Amino acid sequence: MTNEILVVGAGPVGLTTALVLARSGHAVTVLEAGESLSSESRASTYHPPTLEMLAELGVLDELIERGIVSQAFQYRDRESGPVAELDLGILSEDTPYPFRVQCEQSKLTPILLDRLLRHDGCVVEFGEAATSVEQADDRVTVTTASGRSWSADWVVGADGASSVVRKSTGAAFEGITYPERFLVASTTEDLASVLPGIADVNYVFDPHEWLVLLKTPEHWRILFPTDPNSPAEVEVDAERVQERLRGVADLGRPWQLLHASLYHVHQRVAERFRTGRVLLVGDAAHVNNPLGGMGMNSGIHDAVLTARALADVLTGEADLAALDTVVEGRRDVALSYVRTVTHDNWKQLREQDPAARAAHHAELRALAADPAASRAYLRRTSMIDSLRPLEPAG
Ligand SMILES: Cc1cc2nc3c(=O)[nH]c(=O)nc-3n(C[C@H](O)[C@H](O)[C@H](O)COP(=O)(O)OP(=O)(O)OC[C@H]3O[C@@H](n4cnc5c(N)ncnc54)[C@H](O)[C@@H]3O)c2cc1C
Repeated sequence: MTNEILVVGAGPVGLTTALVLARSGHAVTVLEAGESLSSESRASTYHPPTLEMLAELGVLDELIERGIVSQAFQYRDRESGPVAELDLGILSEDTPYPFRVQCEQSKLTPILLDRLLRHDGCVVEFGEAATSVEQADDRVTVTTASGRSWSADWVVGADGASSVVRKSTGAAFEGITYPERFLVASTTEDLASVLPGIADVNYVFDPHEWLVLLKTPEHWRILFPTDPNSPAEVEVDAERVQERLRGVADLGRPWQLLHASLYHVHQRVAERFRTGRVLLVGDAAHVNNPLGGMGMNSGIHDAVLTARALADVLTGEADLAALDTVVEGRRDVALSYVRTVTHDNWKQLREQDPAARAAHHAELRALAADPAASRAYLRRTSMIDSLRPLEPAG
């Protein structure tokens, strides 16, 4: 079968890539290994520049209807309580959306799919796991586990962290794996009643057991680090999870637990994001820890910018050098921005030295009290500076 563009992976990044290309008038086929869209609860925070892009694609109103608009987030200390609250409202001159939206990525993907399928010539083939990608004579051929083959002018690999497309290009995926795995527990308990005064998003410092507390439309999620030496089955055991939840707040009864999952967490960036006619976006290109909510967000930014640049190449408005400028720029963001911010978040949450911890708390308090400093800080943590780094925040 001959196609103009194949996108491998129907996660948030693959579907965004496909929709941008479809809106530019291109025929896109998406190959997805799953029999349907993934319902896994992973990313849940959307930052302002992502909201701008989703608005441009005409899907933001529907996402907001399904999500929660959160204007503030908190830094807290497990022992001493609130440290600082930062209000994204201060970004009103920087973005039309000076807030975060809290909503699981599994609620965005059906909206994107619906929009994509409204375009003639665009299809999603479920149950088709790519097993090999080969380039020859200006064509790329993708073969799937079912034995079918697709040939296209361009292939975009959006097939997640274990990307077959990335592996097919031979690009190394260097970086680190964190020693501890992260446990995500979802609960229907109302954390705002259990811990009065918390925001919808809270980063809680602790040298032994830091936490992230996040509100999503139907439940709260709590992220914990786990002992690197403890087997996975012990860490997800219901009684062990209850013990950890009791440490957050003793309700005098078991917490209502929806589910708990354990994740290995990595910081890795592919050696290159374009190899011939194969492009990489999202987790296929780079993975980072989830502290700060930048994985899906930066992946959606890759999707929009890479797809727009590819569309310009396809219409002859731009050459490959222009496409390379964009994809190399995205690689720089993954290396020097997303990796740095998320890794710093991890170090600060678990800081062991009491003096360094106190100094960091004092810095955050001073920041929250200083509008110019808050604005500069929030431009960075909400990823505005990753896309508009040359625009001064003064
Ligand atoms: C606990 C947790 C919390 C997180 N929180 C946030 C957050 O708040 N904000 C944020 O920005 N990020 C967050 N992330 C990261 C975020 O989930 C990922 O960055 C995001 O899912 C990447 O999207 P993607 O479309 O690139 O890849 P994926 O979501 O992994 O989608 C890849 C798709 O490709 C398909 N696929 C895989 N292999 C093949 C194949 N061979 N052939 C065809 N299809 C294939 C898969 O089935 C899947 O549908 C979090 C991650 C975790 C684990």
